[in-house]
Amino acid sequence: MRMETGTTVIRGGRLFDGTGAAAVADAALVIDDGVVTYAGPEAAMPAQSQGARRIDVGGGTIMPGLVEAHFHPTYFDVAALEDLDIKYPVEYVTLLAAANARLALQCGYTAARSGGSLFNIDVWLKKAIENDLTPGPRLVASGREICGVGGLMDWNPDFRRIGMDGLVLLVNGPDEARAAVRKLVKDGVEWVKTYPTGDAAAPDVNDHHTLCMTFEEMRAVVATAHNHGLKVTGHCRATEGITNALKAGYDAIEHGTFIDDEGLELLLARDVPCVPALYFEKVSVERGPEFGLSQRVIDGHQETLDGGAESARRILRAGGRLGMGGDYGFAWNPHGDYAKELSFFVDFVGLSALEVLKCATKTGAEIMGRGHDLGTLQKGKLADVLLVDGDPTTNIGVLQDRSRFIAVIQGGVVKAGRMAAPAG
Ligand SMILES: [Zn+2]
Repeated sequence: MRMETGTTVIRGGRLFDGTGAAAVADAALVIDDGVVTYAGPEAAMPAQSQGARRIDVGGGTIMPGLVEAHFHPTYFDVAALEDLDIKYPVEYVTLLAAANARLALQCGYTAARSGGSLFNIDVWLKKAIENDLTPGPRLVASGREICGVGGLMDWNPDFRRIGMDGLVLLVNGPDEARAAVRKLVKDGVEWVKTYPTGDAAAPDVNDHHTLCMTFEEMRAVVATAHNHGLKVTGHCRATEGITNALKAGYDAIEHGTFIDDEGLELLLARDVPCVPALYFEKVSVERGPEFGLSQRVIDGHQETLDGGAESARRILRAGGRLGMGGDYGFAWNPHGDYAKELSFFVDFVGLSALEVLKCATKTGAEIMGRGHDLGTLQKGKLADVLLVDGDPTTNIGVLQDRSRFIAVIQGGVVKAGRMAAPAG
């Protein structure tokens, strides 16, 4: 990805650096050749050359670009489970994924970790973004997801011929689990996404279903993935599924909906991050009837919403790490609404705006495995920056309004926002 050359000084507002520390008033950020070289009070800024580019945020906020930690670039207008796989041909889904990535960047998300993708689209989308062929967040790819035969992603009886082979590698037993991971290794993924537990959205399994993968299959996935330097995460709602995944050595937990004391202890012992992806549940309850979701499914989403909010609070209060990401791409939870997850965690779950912003920046970068060069505005980090007309540290809702973005910056280059050149 192209880096800006020369020096840029951004000033004229407060700085939230992503570490969770309170915002610094009258701050300045200095970027040299795409890398942060100073972040702090303007009064203490080292003298800069006359030739430095200057950006005044006019009383606004300088903060790290946001990180979407559960991004499905290939999901688009999903209204039923089979839409995850066969709604459109792969050629069109590839273009949709590029459009979703562009939108995410315009929404202030300078980085994202895929939570699963049709075929290897996210792997190649990542390459296209890195090569500046198409704009988007810096990606960490997952490729296809792994699920046991008859599990959450294999609800469809054979006569319907739905398959799901675009999105999911279905496995029976540890040997097939190992083979599936080896396939993903060749595909070039970095995070292996699995389905240890059920979900209210499926007809044959529910939120408390733990047999979508056996413990042996999960162990085989982790051992093979770790052998190849990959990380493993999983869709974990049910209590026992969460503890099994953690005992199997998972590197992250998606949802973590019904975590109990044992699960929390296991999570904290290895500092395993959790991505609740919870606003999805609220909007599913509110808008599900419009899209024909059954009462059983809506009741399941309500239970997941309440349980998930309680678990997320417990994890953060106990010193655990939460990532912000939202399973966007469903018909009632479309791409572009990413920042609604952030407001939801303040308004509904009860976290502070500063806590949520740290989860959405620093922790997100750590989940990507990029904590060393992304996620905070500190000396030596890549200059992925969001300049906002407003104060997200006291009113996180401003992040939902793209017209408030002065600039979305990657490596010092303005990519979106008011300052971006209009598309030609
Ligand atoms: Zn997901």
